[in-house]
Amino acid sequence: MTTDTTSDSIAALRVFLIESPIKMARQQGVGHIKGTVKRVLLELTSRDGLTGWGEAAPWEVFTGTPEAAFAALDVYLRSLVIGWPLSNIRGLTLAMDRVLVGHAEAKLAVEMAMYDILGKRAGLSVAELLGGRVRDRIPLSFSIADPDFDADLDRMRDMVPKGNRIFKVKTGVKPHADDLAHLKAIRDAFDMTVDLRLDYNQALRPFGALRVLRDAEAFAPTFIEQPVPRDALAAMAEFRQKLDTPILADESCFDLNDLQKIVEMGAADAISVKLMKVGGLQKAQGLMALADAARIPGYGGTLWEGGIALAAGTQFIAATPGISLGCEFYMPHHVLTEDVLEDRIENCDGHVIVPKGPGLGISITEHSLSQGALRLAQA
Ligand SMILES: [Mg+2]
Repeated sequence: MTTDTTSDSIAALRVFLIESPIKMARQQGVGHIKGTVKRVLLELTSRDGLTGWGEAAPWEVFTGTPEAAFAALDVYLRSLVIGWPLSNIRGLTLAMDRVLVGHAEAKLAVEMAMYDILGKRAGLSVAELLGGRVRDRIPLSFSIADPDFDADLDRMRDMVPKGNRIFKVKTGVKPHADDLAHLKAIRDAFDMTVDLRLDYNQALRPFGALRVLRDAEAFAPTFIEQPVPRDALAAMAEFRQKLDTPILADESCFDLNDLQKIVEMGAADAISVKLMKVGGLQKAQGLMALADAARIPGYGGTLWEGGIALAAGTQFIAATPGISLGCEFYMPHHVLTEDVLEDRIENCDGHVIVPKGPGLGISITEHSLSQGALRLAQA
């Protein structure tokens, strides 16, 4: 692959390791979150002076560490990215995979920033560059994960009248009887007006899990996400046979190889697609091509992502018909107390509104960058 240092190329790269305070504790079964989250931001500047932004938001119990993503960009990818032509994203994706194993989030950040620049130059949104938008708004799911369940129930009482209808309960962290009591409390308060989903985050052992899931199924969840560890595909296939509720794979499905195994084993009815797992917008669309062929709908998942990464996720879902189960991009409006965007992506009536502006459709200035995050390192 040739690099072009004379015309349409990337001229500069800045990378930031940041830390943001969050509003509420999150109890997930693994990697409980309280206080702050760390992420990596990337700014690319083209030779003609346009800037594009990317974000790498790994989670140490799930995909990796922000410190490793920072080093991947600063030490291992910088020399490859500088001078690379913006018109060849695919070529850079292949080259990054050759020089660095893993580090999906860092590679995604580079691709995201390149699309942002290309969109700004063309006057097109990233969704349009990815094939064109098939939806202008995406149903938003909020996760019920506060260690204090009553605080979450209060949030629901506030959110439901504002149009939020989808809630995903993080089950398997507290005792099973507590989970059932909470599901009952939600159904008692809102009946069937809310679309309830469950996410066990791999919490159950396959032995005995079926009985636990049968109990939970009584509350009519739309799907049950990742009940057992990521490699327990045979158990997931069995749940699909024995339960009426669809099974969704999250930790079991990072990339195309994972999905191929899931399809072969009949291990999931749906998948959670996270850009941070698959490591690219084009790769995520490739993943959904196989999912479409297998009639497996996608759900827009997230890690602890801020506004830049969620802008990319929003643009991706807008251009990818198979992601039909909504998204969980609730961080910027409900959890992060600060973000680096000038304006948050609009949420309305329980939906994320896909920005119409060029590129990622967001604006970041030196001011918003310095005000919106604590900077731990910069290179
Ligand atoms: Mg999950």
